[in-house]
Amino acid sequence: MNTTQTNKIEIIKAITSKINEVDFDNLHFGEIFTDHSFECDFTNGEWQKPIIKPYAPFLLDPSAKVFHYGQAIFEGMKAYKDDNNDLWLFRPKENFKRFNNSAKRMAMAEVPEEIFMEGLKQLLRLDETWIKKGKGNTMYIRPFMIATGTGVIANPSDDYKFMIILSPAKSYYSGEVKVLIAEHFSRAANGGIGAAKAAGNYAAQFYPTNLANKAGFHQVIWTDDATHTKLEEAGTMNVFFRINDTLYTAPTSERILDGVTRKSLIDMAKRENIEVVIRPVLVSELVEGAKDGSLKEIFGAGTAAVVNPITGFSYQDVYYELPKIENSLALQLKDKLTNIQHKLAEDTFGWTVKI
Ligand SMILES: *Cc1c(COP(=O)(O)O)cnc(C)c1O
Repeated sequence: MNTTQTNKIEIIKAITSKINEVDFDNLHFGEIFTDHSFECDFTNGEWQKPIIKPYAPFLLDPSAKVFHYGQAIFEGMKAYKDDNNDLWLFRPKENFKRFNNSAKRMAMAEVPEEIFMEGLKQLLRLDETWIKKGKGNTMYIRPFMIATGTGVIANPSDDYKFMIILSPAKSYYSGEVKVLIAEHFSRAANGGIGAAKAAGNYAAQFYPTNLANKAGFHQVIWTDDATHTKLEEAGTMNVFFRINDTLYTAPTSERILDGVTRKSLIDMAKRENIEVVIRPVLVSELVEGAKDGSLKEIFGAGTAAVVNPITGFSYQDVYYELPKIENSLALQLKDKLTNIQHKLAEDTFGWTVKI
């Protein structure tokens, strides 16, 4: 192994690369990881020396608090390679800020910006050959942090491990997506951790989502926990509704994650003179809109799929299929956004950051 020192990050390079074993034309989302990972530990009240090293399993004490009390948070972002072989990130500071907001909510150590950003950039540069050019090819980036401090006493850990791993991804077409509107289960509650990208939010979603899958639905649209009358998120994505030619989406709150894709789509739509209304949307409005034909589109928004059109929904055992539509706003906005991300259209918002 060849050890070098660059900007204070120690780099231990993998002796061989796995890249030739990867079928880049048939990637399944999030299953393949690049040759290296970034890692930085928080111990004795401070961040230790960051390191990039070969991607590999690691050891943890069985009493590590992440296993018992679930202090675990993550982010999801992407890198892109343009036709000049330059690498780009999309609004990375938003992810950094959200990561530390999540850390704060979960009583975890906050990561200094330099460690987050420099780790990210140097890791991407080192595994740069894994990022393929062309629209539809991206590098999915997964920063995460876990509590590594030991002991089963129920208090926050003193020690944390912050890591970044990379997974090459191809854009995928989700096909038909039928959703079930939640009438009993909730993703988040007032005063809870719904606004944090906390691992536990996902764990809590799996059971109700499995039930929905068994009933023939791909996802759950979550409603507010108190009344189940307001539409909040679709699976692990923010959700938009098009009624006639107006887009509606719920305001972010303690229960609704502040998605980067969501706010980018809102800004883009406004720039296109599409009316965007940010207010709680009622289940009853959706049902009415489906009945009278004013409901044209429903779509999820998030980094992984960017935009995920929903083809129909079920509520109180009635299934409402949306009509097939030409000039889908969801697909137009998706195309515009991915063009900006891949540097195929001018980024008049200043969202893309070269690395
Ligand atoms: C990550 C996430 C989103 C989407 O956020 P982006 O920043 O657009 O990727 C939406 N809802 C939930 C619950 C999430 O965890």
